[in-house]
Amino acid sequence: MEQHLDTQVQREIKKFSHEELKAITNNFSRKIGRGGFGIVYHGYLENQTEVAVKTCTLESTQANKQFLAEVRSLSLVHHKNLVTLVGYCKDGVNLAVVYEYLPRGSLFDHLTGKNSSFSLNWRMRLNIVLEAAQALDYLHTGCGMVHRDVKSSNILLGQNFEAKVSDLGLAKMFSADANSIITLSGTPGYMDPEYQLTFTLNEKSDVYSFGVILMEIVTGEPPILTARESIHIVKFIKQKLATGSIDDVVDSRFEGQYDMNSVWKVVELAMICTRDESANRPTMADVVMHLKDCVQIEEHRQRGKLQPSEKSYMNMSSISTSHSMSVSFAPISR
Ligand code: ATP
Repeated sequence: MEQHLDTQVQREIKKFSHEELKAITNNFSRKIGRGGFGIVYHGYLENQTEVAVKTCTLESTQANKQFLAEVRSLSLVHHKNLVTLVGYCKDGVNLAVVYEYLPRGSLFDHLTGKNSSFSLNWRMRLNIVLEAAQALDYLHTGCGMVHRDVKSSNILLGQNFEAKVSDLGLAKMFSADANSIITLSGTPGYMDPEYQLTFTLNEKSDVYSFGVILMEIVTGEPPILTARESIHIVKFIKQKLATGSIDDVVDSRFEGQYDMNSVWKVVELAMICTRDESANRPTMADVVMHLKDCVQIEEHRQRGKLQPSEKSYMNMSSISTSHSMSVSFAPISR
């Protein structure tokens, strides 16, 4: 059976031996990060293409049960905003996946200042989430797949800050048991609250996690804020909005260079995406549509049609359900 899967996989992507990975990574000499499953190394293929080699350090003999099945399904998935899977290694106990290399790191690193040489402006953040949303919409509607671990550290950035969603299927690939609650429970802060009741993840779980990312790009804060006491970003934003001040939550690194309408629109979208009941959340296709509007609003501002100081406030009562999601931007008085 495994042989059969191996053959099928090889038609789509390359199978590497452990020795080949050693050569590609110059004996695993350049670490570029560490994730929940193991260390990520930089490498060069023979044709000098840069790659990221993600190794798995799980020792369980069960650990690779799902591996080939997942690799095979991922080899069929192609989108310009998904990190391309170049190949895999399943050589004895050595498991690894080889991805295209994204030189600008993750959205999370930029937001949290780990990549502090410069900060992403509002327009760049909007572009990044729009591209990531398009990739997730493709997964949901084009492939019938759920990502399962949507988070800002899984949105990687290319040379021109183009966004690529990574780690699709990784939770399943490297988990000891594909149905395990523990291994599929995602990352704290991004987890669909319904999962705790149903123990299943679906497209709307990805939408919830994406809503958390939208809140991160507005505030520049991580999903769980720890400044005074730990508070989830959804609760943090709700509390701030209850006092009527969105200025308090907008990332100060923007230095006023944004159109408040597009910020409000993103906050509103984020609130809808993170609704407790999945049925009341929008689809990723809805999210893409609304983010396109936000990008347009911000483009207009940058072309000078709106003044940076022009800040109008939306009426939050316009938040609608996923079925009739018409976002309105009636300014409210301050
Ligand atoms: P987890 O694996 O627990 O979900 P994570 O997503 O942060 O956590 P990894 O995906 O393993 O961890 O990535 C670890 C680090 O390696 C990240 O900081 C990321 O920037 C870097 N990295 C991962 N994949 C690539 C890639 N294709 N190109 C460039 N850097 C990458």
